[in-house]
Amino acid sequence: MTMMKPAADDTAMDIEAPVAALFPDALERRRIDDRLTQALARASERVTNGPVTPDFDVEAFARELAGYDFAFARDLDEALDWSIRVLEHGVTHMTNPRYFGLFNPAPAFPAQCADRIVATFNPQLAAWPTSPAAVEIEAHVIRAVARRAGLPDGAAGHFTSGGSEANGTALVLALTRAEPRFASEGARGFAGQPVLYVSTDSHLAWLKMAHVSGIGRAAVRLIATDGIGRMDVARLEAALAEDRAAGRVPVMIAATAGTTNAGMIDPLRALAAVAAREGLWLHVDAAWAGAMIASERLGRHLDGLDLADSITIDAHKWLATTMGCGMLLARDPALLKQAFHVATTYMPSPGLDRDPFVTSLLWSRRFMGLRLFLNLAAAGWQGYARHVERAVDLSGLVAAGIAAKGWSVPNASPCGVICMAPPEGRAPPTLIVRRMLAEGAAWVSLARFEGREVVRACVTHGRTEADDVAVLVARLEAASEAVS
Ligand SMILES: *Cc1c(COP(=O)(O)O)cnc(C)c1O
Repeated sequence: MTMMKPAADDTAMDIEAPVAALFPDALERRRIDDRLTQALARASERVTNGPVTPDFDVEAFARELAGYDFAFARDLDEALDWSIRVLEHGVTHMTNPRYFGLFNPAPAFPAQCADRIVATFNPQLAAWPTSPAAVEIEAHVIRAVARRAGLPDGAAGHFTSGGSEANGTALVLALTRAEPRFASEGARGFAGQPVLYVSTDSHLAWLKMAHVSGIGRAAVRLIATDGIGRMDVARLEAALAEDRAAGRVPVMIAATAGTTNAGMIDPLRALAAVAAREGLWLHVDAAWAGAMIASERLGRHLDGLDLADSITIDAHKWLATTMGCGMLLARDPALLKQAFHVATTYMPSPGLDRDPFVTSLLWSRRFMGLRLFLNLAAAGWQGYARHVERAVDLSGLVAAGIAAKGWSVPNASPCGVICMAPPEGRAPPTLIVRRMLAEGAAWVSLARFEGREVVRACVTHGRTEADDVAVLVARLEAASEAVS
């Protein structure tokens, strides 16, 4: 079907031409696009072979930035070159294979392709009728991940901005199920202060989520770990009894599968038993380690994940999408509708269950899920299994290499986070990490494991090789000697 443009009407007003700086014609777009593609490829190569930490001249940058006062228009080519240059010199490079970092990935290529496609069509995913193909692709991926995580048929969920939003959503679901009056009265609807239980080594985004949900930060009970970095079940039971005796209302246990500091997994099956006995919501925050569902070998460490009421997995962590791709999976999707429903006259449908705007926190939504769809399509679960297994194997090399230098590795993470303590008599981890970051050959961070300061490393880049691990081990030992 071809549509004809209506003929120009003599009476029409003279309308100015489109703003070419914002909406250049097709030929100019093509020229800039090609140039950008080349420039980005060259920058990526420099980043791969260069330092991991920024060599950032803050003052020069601030002057240049102030020059962008928007009083007049600048050349786009020039602004693009400037943007690439300042990112190359002004950020830590997660795309460098010697970034042994926090849970930030180098994005996989299919996901980067997805970003381009989504930026071109810019679909609105608030409601199904507007973008049925995109809404269905997301729902399909979420169902596939939920099944892989062991949740029953009928489980659903949605993509989120990240793990924090997913965890916050889980908290709202737990509160909504625990107290029917929560929907209309908020925390006041509870007979006493609602409380949730996480370990002291959980991700403290929980405090923010308790704050915004209206139950208050004091609602978060931090349960001590068991000496090896996992929530202590006996202490949890003691805290529960104490809270009930004081008239507080336990609502949720949020287990962590893959702690940020040490990659430890709370005892999921034991926590599920406590939750079942006490009538509590069980959430599993598997933002990083949830990716191990891809692998049979590693997935067994997530034993008990299938018992969760809800699960957080971030695709922008170990599943290697670009940033801003979390997932919330829920065993009973009816609760999502209960928590997020709203009726409008102007939306294209009366709030069907398949409309994301009535089953999640966001309204206007970016097509977040195409990145995980294309990664999964191109690699299959098998490809992802190899991706996570090789990362854990490389982490094993880190542990073995550093142990051979006389360091100790106090944690035993099944998901490849290595905590390292230098030999007796050497300078403390703070100084070693500072030296490493100043050098920039490899990136590591400072962490605490069971009260002890450690150097932390995790393989987060899909193209890291044994050679890169050798550089890390050699530089760590040299840095430790140099500052001691
Ligand atoms: C990263 C992380 C979070 C926070 O997720 P964001 O995507 O950064 O919002 C929460 N919990 C765990 C265990 C994480 O690793």
